[in-house]
Amino acid sequence: MARDYHILVLEDEPATRALLASLLEAEGYRVTPAELGAQALELITQYSFDLILLDLNLPDEDGLFIARELRAKSDVGIIILTSRKEDVDRVVGLEMGADDYVTKPFFPRELIARVKNLLRRLTPARGGRRGEAGREIRHFEGWAMDLAKRSLTNAQGHDVNLTRAEFDLLTALVNSAGRVLSRDQLLDAIGSQFWTPVDRTIDVLVSRLRRKMEADPKSPTIIITSHGYGYKFAPTVSLE
Ligand code: CA
Repeated sequence: MARDYHILVLEDEPATRALLASLLEAEGYRVTPAELGAQALELITQYSFDLILLDLNLPDEDGLFIARELRAKSDVGIIILTSRKEDVDRVVGLEMGADDYVTKPFFPRELIARVKNLLRRLTPARGGRRGEAGREIRHFEGWAMDLAKRSLTNAQGHDVNLTRAEFDLLTALVNSAGRVLSRDQLLDAIGSQFWTPVDRTIDVLVSRLRRKMEADPKSPTIIITSHGYGYKFAPTVSLE
């Protein structure tokens, strides 16, 4: 299975780039290395990558700009590489549509685990078996959420664009409507077993969902905060 995946490694430091390539190749992945953002943007027009490891600190383009460009053009998996002192990058990276991040210096095992985890999450969203029989739609207050197509439509019938992490988080909340889920449970749901307890990822994603879904994000009625614990999806959900 692994050998079917094609990974773009965008990293300007030669030693790190070589290390990443050899780690991934050892797992059976096909790897295309790139040194500059401009090369990466060119390569994605030529190949269909499954995942991109994206160093944020590049000599030519801002890695966050690249992330946004990539996300606008495809549903490729994006893992950003960032150094420890750039905490804010992780949050902004997720806002730009990255799926996960790895902090440099990284542990090879953690890097590979995150790559595998993301590829596993990507696979069901692709692969052809998405016939009508597989459709799973959740309805709430006029909204429709199609789990197979990974689409969300508001009460006015307009599509609302969600990043992969936002969609996964909303799915977990909707599937447990009426029950409070802890931040840990929600982190599990978005496939991030390595985040630290103080991580603000869930709070960032929830505030993004609120901005996209709530009439007044400051007094939410859809995703309710359970202080010090987690979040609850308040509306009644019906299935189709
Ligand atoms: Ca760099």
